[in-house]
Amino acid sequence: MKSIYLDHAASTPVHPEVAEEMMRVMTGQYGNASSVHAFGRAAKRTVSGARDRIAKFLGCLPDEIVFTAGGTESDNLALFGAASMRRSKGNHIITSSIEHHAVLHACEELEKEGFRVTYLPVDHTGRVRPEDLEAALSEDTILISIMYANNEVGTIQPIEEIGRIARSRDILFHVDAVQALGALPINCHELPVDMMSFSAHKINGPQGVGALYVRKGLVIAPRLHGGLQEKKRRAGTENMAGIAGFGKAVEIASRQMEQRREHDLRLRQALISTLEQKIGRDAFVINGHQEECLPHIVNISFPQTDTETLLMNLDMEGIAAASGSACTSGSLELSHVLEAMQLPQNVLRSAIRFSFGLGNTTEDMEYTAQKIETILRRLT
Ligand code: PLP
Repeated sequence: MKSIYLDHAASTPVHPEVAEEMMRVMTGQYGNASSVHAFGRAAKRTVSGARDRIAKFLGCLPDEIVFTAGGTESDNLALFGAASMRRSKGNHIITSSIEHHAVLHACEELEKEGFRVTYLPVDHTGRVRPEDLEAALSEDTILISIMYANNEVGTIQPIEEIGRIARSRDILFHVDAVQALGALPINCHELPVDMMSFSAHKINGPQGVGALYVRKGLVIAPRLHGGLQEKKRRAGTENMAGIAGFGKAVEIASRQMEQRREHDLRLRQALISTLEQKIGRDAFVINGHQEECLPHIVNISFPQTDTETLLMNLDMEGIAAASGSACTSGSLELSHVLEAMQLPQNVLRSAIRFSFGLGNTTEDMEYTAQKIETILRRLT
């Protein structure tokens, strides 16, 4: 039986060059980057090398990169770190209703600490309307957190416009760019943003490593207390092998970005056009924005069935897709993103996220569409 992995938005396979780099570091370097002896200095050089590479790719200064244990920690560090520093100026935070749980649950915690949070609605394509943001602003708004691109439907947000609004009011702006990294060109200094979250395992890097861009001059309160690592913004001995792997993954992503985009667009087209041929255009609905979207994520509903049945049947055929975010796919609860987009119930309850990557081929997509046809025929 074939085995086709179409869940790259949840996690990607580690690139062989990344694994090689990590193995080199893990087996050859065991000093602590904080130690002053030669072993420590070698470790420090490894961490700084990766930091330099990542900063160059993101168009920022190396010191503006804080290494973390992933996108979740980066989001939490940004929200709690900025909110507590700005508390004396106000207690209002604005985010959107389609953020990742790393932002939404952090905001719920901040509410318990006395902050007021506005969760902006989105239109039916999953986009935040800048006019809704303007309307939500108040004198005590201190922080806005809106994702670059959504992990369930791939819709890209009007980040520049939102950032300009934030800047004009001197409000901090955090962007969760976990899904955008490697898929869209990102230049932190050219964008009107103050903080941006990234994660290595979405770009063929290791799981459990991430970064937060923190604009020079912005002081955020640390979440972890201990040593002075990461310029006092994140205590703890650095995950040296993971960071080295992240650096390598970024290097690969930067040289393959254009090629990856074309590849993903070809796959997207192959999946949609084969579905059209096999089951007809009326038998499925594509969720999310059709132009302003990440090429590697396509969210499709098949209203004659339901998500769980289709996912299970695809799994039995060796095809791994998802119901939405990885956190909710275990329990298959309704997607908060699709609910916020106010999709009809039959669309909401039959959505599948296909997300592809470098290892997939157009044949994989045609095969998947054929299997969907077989499954739907069997079920109806
Ligand atoms: N933000 C977004 C948009 C994501 O898609 C994810 C992971 O799926 C995260 C944050 C969390 O990142 P991590 O898995 O590295 O903690």
